[in-house]
Amino acid sequence: MVLHYTAMNSARAAIDRLCAPEFEVSAHYVIDEHGRVTQLVDEAHRAWHAGRSFWQGCEDMNSASIGIELCNRGTHPFPHPQMQQLRSLLAGITHRWSLPRSHVIGHSDIALGRKTDPGSRFDWRGLARDGFGLWPQEHTAINDPAQFLDHAAQVGYDVAVGVHPVLQGFRLHFAPHRVGALGPDDCADMASLAHQTVVDQTPPSA
Ligand SMILES: [Zn+2]
Repeated sequence: MVLHYTAMNSARAAIDRLCAPEFEVSAHYVIDEHGRVTQLVDEAHRAWHAGRSFWQGCEDMNSASIGIELCNRGTHPFPHPQMQQLRSLLAGITHRWSLPRSHVIGHSDIALGRKTDPGSRFDWRGLARDGFGLWPQEHTAINDPAQFLDHAAQVGYDVAVGVHPVLQGFRLHFAPHRVGALGPDDCADMASLAHQTVVDQTPPSA
């Protein structure tokens, strides 16, 4: 599941655009500020929401993911009813498709240097607390830039773009207030995420 914001002024305008073939964009679901859900594309069908993208070795995320657009210009917090509705939608999708929690990611994670949605106002931490997406756990700081990229690759990031875009995309999601060069906290957080990803995506043995 890939989360986005619409960056449009109204839900109506966003839905119109997502349904207009000439724009070549679409998503499976749109959730407006009041928590109203509109389904535009069947979950089993492909939607054009990801664009050029990469995650966990996959370069065609449109074929591999369900896109959810949240009505928000990216500049204000996401309202409670909208987040509540997102939680129930994610609960349904993860159940229907037996998806692990680590599969809840943002457009900014899979389109490094190109996309910033759902942005720094999105409450990834709260969502992770409810079982959707990962969040770094307690850690001891480590500082090894080489390991940072190795761990980032395990999480799913496109490390071929280099340290800087990976760091930007990672911080936007997991540490939006952190600034400056790659540091021990970034390295430790990425190590924690890599470890959780492996555990989360290892099928339980029969
Ligand atoms: Zn997007």
